[in-house]
Amino acid sequence: MKYWSQFFVPTLKESPADAEIASHKLLVRAGLVRKLSGGLYTYMPLGLRTLQKITQICREELDESGAIELWMPHVHPAENWQKGPRWNAAREIMFRADHAGDGKKSSPDPEFVLGPTHEEVITPLIKAEISSYRDLPKNFYQIATKFRNEIRPRYGLMRAREFVMMDAYSFDANEAGAEVAYGKMKAAYEAFFKRVGVLAIAVEADTGVMGGSFSHEFMVPAEVGDDDVIYCETSGYAANREKATSGLVPADFVVAAPTAETEKFATPGVVTIAALAKEPYSVAPDAQFKTLVYVGDDKPFLVILRGSDDLEEAKLGALGYTLVRPATPEEIAPIMGAKPGSLGAVKGTIAQPDKLDGIYADNAIKLIGNGTTGANEDGFHLRNVNVERDLAITGWGDFRTVKAGEPCPLCGEPLKSRRGIEVGHIFILGTKYSDCFEATYMDDQKQTHPMVMGCYGIGISRTLQAVIEQGHDQDGIVWPWAVAPFQVLICNLDPQLAEAADLAKAIGVAAELAGADVLIDDRAERPGVKFKDADLIGIPLRVTIGGRGLKNGIVEVKWRHEKDVASIPVAEAASHIA
Ligand code: ATP
Ligand code: MG
Ligand code: MG
Ligand code: MG
Repeated sequence: MKYWSQFFVPTLKESPADAEIASHKLLVRAGLVRKLSGGLYTYMPLGLRTLQKITQICREELDESGAIELWMPHVHPAENWQKGPRWNAAREIMFRADHAGDGKKSSPDPEFVLGPTHEEVITPLIKAEISSYRDLPKNFYQIATKFRNEIRPRYGLMRAREFVMMDAYSFDANEAGAEVAYGKMKAAYEAFFKRVGVLAIAVEADTGVMGGSFSHEFMVPAEVGDDDVIYCETSGYAANREKATSGLVPADFVVAAPTAETEKFATPGVVTIAALAKEPYSVAPDAQFKTLVYVGDDKPFLVILRGSDDLEEAKLGALGYTLVRPATPEEIAPIMGAKPGSLGAVKGTIAQPDKLDGIYADNAIKLIGNGTTGANEDGFHLRNVNVERDLAITGWGDFRTVKAGEPCPLCGEPLKSRRGIEVGHIFILGTKYSDCFEATYMDDQKQTHPMVMGCYGIGISRTLQAVIEQGHDQDGIVWPWAVAPFQVLICNLDPQLAEAADLAKAIGVAAELAGADVLIDDRAERPGVKFKDADLIGIPLRVTIGGRGLKNGIVEVKWRHEKDVASIPVAEAASHIA
């Protein structure tokens, strides 16, 4: 039981100027967080209570599913990342943590980085610790801070630079085992979001740079979400729009010369080309597409198409080769070996990876673009790389348009689209990391195999804010019971009256015995101020005690999500609340 006057709930009348969305405004106004700098927040006492409740629910559900908790360092030797498969792709978002004053400040590569996620730490750990099939399967998780130098931190905790994530990593003997682990995690996520009291829907997702085989995201439907979910009410089909277009390149695109501006954002190993479809796949007719090609050593690579209708964001996200003109399917067909008119994904392997060493891998793709369109006024020349020799295109997939208005791939009803907040993500990774770090095990025949991995994330702090985005009204937050910072708020309008103070305490004790967390508003404030604050901080059950009510022998009880106020005889109050 806490007394407001002894606790710290700094509520505000005004929203901060940088808060654009309701949940961000309420986070600050209700005194849950305070900003240090862009994307960096202090959890104030009330906010911390909710964060801890969400954390605990997550821990219970994961423990229940058989996952094992541990805690890994957040400062990672850059070496681990350099050895891993995505150093080039991930370094942009990683904070560097160099030794101060060791003379290496000017080195292009940091000595340490702050962990944006932990595959590069856990895979070598498991390689060292597990070598027999008898020790598999295992699934390890932690609930801890992650660091990502987001280009555009915004919306409070939604896209922060430092945030709390549950991240888990499963290790199995084979793909079938990994699918079992994946299924268990999906069930644990569903149980977690249900207990938290937020509606989150599992949708098919793009595996992107992680390069795994399949993936789901958990989305909280909300207008302010950064993702587009394509869904069908009839069949239940739901996919992230990124997935709907991932790995799929419209046939009618051309690759054009980089500009000085786009070169600034070029990342070695990540190819950035702009493509424009004849028929836009995005909402805006002049929609830009980011096409990222991840080339990891001798690993297969996939062309990933990402749509963005926000040019500014697209530029920052390293989009930017300008469109010259649309190419025709006939132009593309010969090099891709596809039927004219078909659309598809480029899949291939780097046949001689050493030949690509030291050059931007995007030269390879520029060549495809070049060969595809013949539009090479601008010298996409090869140093010493020969696409035909060094880059083997092995596949040209089918294009399946999945967008709003199109028929659902399962039932044919028109698809719909809406925005969503990604609160969780699950992947089957395959052996990408275990190959890289040689995380192998020996089977019962003494044969060595790479472990098959899965990885899983829940944005704990983002979930906190998504709960508010989903649960609020014009007066403030409406917390679900399970994650409310307190469940019962006892508003004592006359704290100087001994009778009122005693009753508040008695009711508080009864409510606590029944398992609720109790806050007593004992401040010497006007009732209007107390009620406004009560609505703002959104405690589910409010009990109001006042001198006038006591004279009539009643206290008032009100649920935050209901309008009605019930009058209860004082004698019954404690048992009623309990
Ligand atoms: P997004 O698409 O929003 O950038 P992500 O796909 O990069 O997220 P993951 O790598 O899948 O994120 O991380 C797992 C979870 O961590 C996400 O589902 C999300 O809930 C949360 N998360 C990711 N980035 C942030 C961030 N900058 N601030 C708060 N939570 C985040
Ligand atoms: Mg991200
Ligand atoms: Mg995402
Ligand atoms: Mg994700």
